[in-house]
Amino acid sequence: MSLSTEQSQRDHIKELSRKHVFTSWSAQGALDQLPLAGGEGAHFWDHEGNRYLDLTSQLVNVNIGYQHPKLVAAIQEAAGQLVTIGPGFDSESRAEAARLVSERAPEGMNKVFFTNSGAEAVENAIRLARLHTGRHKLLAAYRSYHGATHGAISLTGEGRRLGSEPGLPGVVHFWGPYLYRSAFYASTEQEESERALEHLRQTLQFEGPDRVAAIILESVVGSNGILVPPAGYLEGVRALCDEHGIMLIADEVMAGFARTGQWFAIQHWDVRPDLITFAKGVNSGYVPLGGVVISDEISATFNERPYPGGLTYSGHALACASAAASINIMEEEGILEHVRQLDEQVLRPGLTALAEQHEVVGDVRGIGAFWAVELVADRETKEPLGAEAMGRIAAACKAEGVWPLIVANRVHVVPPCVITQDEARRALEVLGSALSSV
Ligand code: PMP
Repeated sequence: MSLSTEQSQRDHIKELSRKHVFTSWSAQGALDQLPLAGGEGAHFWDHEGNRYLDLTSQLVNVNIGYQHPKLVAAIQEAAGQLVTIGPGFDSESRAEAARLVSERAPEGMNKVFFTNSGAEAVENAIRLARLHTGRHKLLAAYRSYHGATHGAISLTGEGRRLGSEPGLPGVVHFWGPYLYRSAFYASTEQEESERALEHLRQTLQFEGPDRVAAIILESVVGSNGILVPPAGYLEGVRALCDEHGIMLIADEVMAGFARTGQWFAIQHWDVRPDLITFAKGVNSGYVPLGGVVISDEISATFNERPYPGGLTYSGHALACASAAASINIMEEEGILEHVRQLDEQVLRPGLTALAEQHEVVGDVRGIGAFWAVELVADRETKEPLGAEAMGRIAAACKAEGVWPLIVANRVHVVPPCVITQDEARRALEVLGSALSSV
């Protein structure tokens, strides 16, 4: 196609979308989104052939990269078989995907309930916890995102919850650890961890711990700033849950499946949750799929008594076949190990160097292929860098063919996990020059 045909294709898609697509989280009148035409590995391109190195993984889900040939082939093969098998029948792909997921989860978590999305995984996790404990309260962190269905958005602690209030009854929010903007005036990781745990202990005490069904948290907080918990924190939360018979739900929708260099981020610590929610990276979003990994204790509750919940597509055969193939590919290609090396050899040293070189960087934090660079107008006051300057940084990166993920005053560096070390180095160079422009 000639360039002008490509342009008219782009304009046609934009026009149709403006007329007919009701878009997430947006004022519908002011949309100006780039139509995408293709992708490969860590790159995508538009209809005019502009190619971008992707630091977003779309919504932090394309962990295996775009159009992975083996995954595409596995999906094509599965599409030729019986693609939709209701949850009332057994299917090979669902059984196999459940085996592969549960074998990678912590010990004693042998069952998987499949959903279509992360939010549905969260809905079912809270229902499992409530039914198992016979209690109704749910504790979740302020700095969290758990999805946009009714229950999941109620658990979400950040501002996106407010438009859906009043939410689910029984939800209580608490402050988790975030040393850079500590809610506890802490100045070390250890203080932050201890004070956050004390705050959670007191919150539980005043809520009546015997009414609390579950504490849900993101093992590494994603959308709200890539917050890696300090040493001892998750262990402390687990201990509080054990003391009071409370279920611990690890929301791994964003952090799971290689993003942090482990199958599940919580495996960086010696903590076993009771429920794990997952989606996104399980099959890199090639087909919608999510799920809950369930402890043996919770699943035993439903041996005699039926679980009062289900979805037409709980374990959709095509989606499950894609998950099984994706997990096998990650294993064969050593993608977890690749992410760990990317962290050690490129992202951690490279981003730390950016913080040393640029006054505008207030904080750098992350793990694996899961990083945030938090930008400030003033290092002393930590005043967040404004939207106009953030926009200039984004534009400078895009002009050099790197697509950044800007969230408030942060650049989240969350590329496909298959990004090569050279590509990642180039992305950091471009980001460095963009930072010089503010
Ligand atoms: N939990 C977390 C931690 C997430 O990051 C997300 C999505 N960003 C969700 C839940 C919701 O997932 P979905 O958008 O697939 O419903």
